[in-house]
Amino acid sequence: MEESTKVSLQCFFCFSDQFVLPDEGKAILSGDLVECANCGRLNDYDSLMRVAKRKGIEWVEEQVQEMVDDFTKQLKNVFK
Ligand SMILES: [Zn+2]
Repeated sequence: MEESTKVSLQCFFCFSDQFVLPDEGKAILSGDLVECANCGRLNDYDSLMRVAKRKGIEWVEEQVQEMVDDFTKQLKNVFK
């Protein structure tokens, strides 16, 4: 198990991020349904990815904002 991304999928019903994954080597395809390992309900993979990507973008924006804040602080220190 390797953590390849900070963006994780989340069940629409119980918000668990645990899913029943298909057999190794079998990819989840667009249009597939993925079963939640917690509540057992089926989530539409395309919708899950859309939400995950939106979260991913928010995460990136946060990181950039933090960098800008740090940089601004450093600048202020320089001109003290
Ligand atoms: Zn669930």
